[in-house]
Amino acid sequence: MNTNYDRLGSHRDVSFVKEFQHMRDVLCELTRADQVEVLMGSGTLANDAVAGQLSLLCKPGLILISGEFGRRLIKHANGAKLFFETLEIPEGQAFERLELERALKANPAIEWIWGVHCESSTGVLNDLEMYKYVCAKYDIKLCVDIIGSIGRVSIDLSGIDLASCTSGKGLGAPPGLSMVFHQYDLQPAPDFLPCVLDLGIYQASGGIPYTIQSSLIHTLLIALKRHNWEQRFEEVRNWSTSIRRKLAEIDAPILAPDSCAMPAVVTIALPEIHSSETIGDALREHGVHINYRSHYLLERNWIQTCMTDTEKKPSEKLVRLLKKELAQ
Ligand SMILES: *Cc1c(COP(=O)(O)O)cnc(C)c1O
Repeated sequence: MNTNYDRLGSHRDVSFVKEFQHMRDVLCELTRADQVEVLMGSGTLANDAVAGQLSLLCKPGLILISGEFGRRLIKHANGAKLFFETLEIPEGQAFERLELERALKANPAIEWIWGVHCESSTGVLNDLEMYKYVCAKYDIKLCVDIIGSIGRVSIDLSGIDLASCTSGKGLGAPPGLSMVFHQYDLQPAPDFLPCVLDLGIYQASGGIPYTIQSSLIHTLLIALKRHNWEQRFEEVRNWSTSIRRKLAEIDAPILAPDSCAMPAVVTIALPEIHSSETIGDALREHGVHINYRSHYLLERNWIQTCMTDTEKKPSEKLVRLLKKELAQ
């Protein structure tokens, strides 16, 4: 085994720093963001970092909930001792402009909104442009979790204050890096935030305040350059149209309506006569892998199929096997 880890390159190497800055530029270009800070960790860490920034505002906010991942934002917010209200809608739906405006009018003290772009649990994609419109109209900050949507749909982060994502999932790189895009300059807040969450320290240190694994930066850059992203987003849309049509043909009850469907994720809410676990196990025995083991899927009797990183067409075998299971 090669244990000469030095050969991976130090995070202080001039060439590494150059590659790191280039990777940040590519990320910002992909999302039309101003700046991005990169942390070692998963998407959850990026959301904690967003909560940390929100805590510095010392103003009340509004958290949007329409599924598991929206609900997790509450935990982040409580951990950072934020003042906030919640707006919850039924799972499987997207937020509407009038709902948001009503909530903001009812509580004029609200200074920020934090929500999930793609609610990965339900397969719903929220309307980011509408969020931006509303937040600009009421002059409040907008923070979004784009962990489930980056690399799968075109995203324009201009006008969005903070957005969190990860190297895994849609970007198709190994997990291990989490990112927060930001539109305004961040100031270090050593009296208020733990060092590792203090995005202002990252910005003040040229993005690399602490040790970072250079190979993760390298593989993320490779993943970012592997696709022509506009073409990739079209493949994702085509995959979605195709799988949704096939599932409709076999009467599989798709949770999210076409109008707010997340292109790369389809959640099926099974009727009570079927068990998501039994069906998930049965498909797995035939070599077809669907999501069903997460606690929130098991609790709701839901199964989920996601477009994989390399896939272009949905699996015919999945549809065939599912049809058989649903007929039983
Ligand atoms: C996966 C996911 C998370 C959690 O990300 P981790 O990398 O597992 O920490 C948060 N939000 C959304 C929308 C997700 O899809």
